[in-house]
Amino acid sequence: MTDARSTQRGRVLIVAGSDSGGGAGIQADIKAVTALGGYAMTAITALTAQNTLGVEGVVGIEPAFIRQQIAVVLDDLGADAIKTGMLHSAPVIEAVAAELELRGRGIPLVVDPVMVAESGASLLDPTAVGALNRDLLVRATLLTPNLPEAEKLTGMTIADLEAMRQAASMLRTLGAESVLLKGGHLVGDTIHDVLATEAGLEVFTDTRLPARGSHGTGCTLASAVACGLAQGLGLRDAVLRARAYLREAIRTAPGLGRGNGPVNHGH
Ligand code: PLP
Repeated sequence: MTDARSTQRGRVLIVAGSDSGGGAGIQADIKAVTALGGYAMTAITALTAQNTLGVEGVVGIEPAFIRQQIAVVLDDLGADAIKTGMLHSAPVIEAVAAELELRGRGIPLVVDPVMVAESGASLLDPTAVGALNRDLLVRATLLTPNLPEAEKLTGMTIADLEAMRQAASMLRTLGAESVLLKGGHLVGDTIHDVLATEAGLEVFTDTRLPARGSHGTGCTLASAVACGLAQGLGLRDAVLRARAYLREAIRTAPGLGRGNGPVNHGH
């Protein structure tokens, strides 16, 4: 019998927070990776007591224990891509960066710079933006900010597509290898996402879907891209597949809960 471990591709280590409501965070990450045929592993950074109406409580996990989760997973199962989501605080960012320096070199890294939930709850200590820029952005194979996150990271005001192009380029000069800047926060019937890579800028344009829920869309997209990279897709193909997956997940959202409901991973 051959050793299945040696040929397994699509292993994704997710470093992120838990959403008890199952819509965002590691729950969305695991669902997306699993639906796309990958194998999801997790290092949990924080627990949230959360539903579709909002985040009611947050408990952070000790940075040393987060490091331990990453270490034991990489030492045994290994990973073909790593995705980071909610990192909660500067000490967590520093711990994750240190562990990735030790054990994550050469593994594609998707950094979703999660800061504030759509419900308004803070998921990252605002003083930790500097640590994000200094320690994690520079390691990112792909950085996936939404507009408010890109504004915090660049200090720019981003009010139109031209500013999006500039911000995506600037985030590359700040150290991210490539950037997928998501434009869903701009008002309008069309949504632009800007992909900045060493090959240049590419704009993806879609009509806005009438969403019955958009909770967890950022987590889903970043994990879907990480899964594609882990499965050996090129960056652009991984982004295209992830965007198509997310669009269908939004279109078929089950309409759960009384607030901003989850997307559908069962399509
Ligand atoms: N909760 C957790 C644990 C998350 O990681 C995230 C986003 O990354 C959210 C909530 C926010 O989800 P949304 O802004 O889509 O509501």
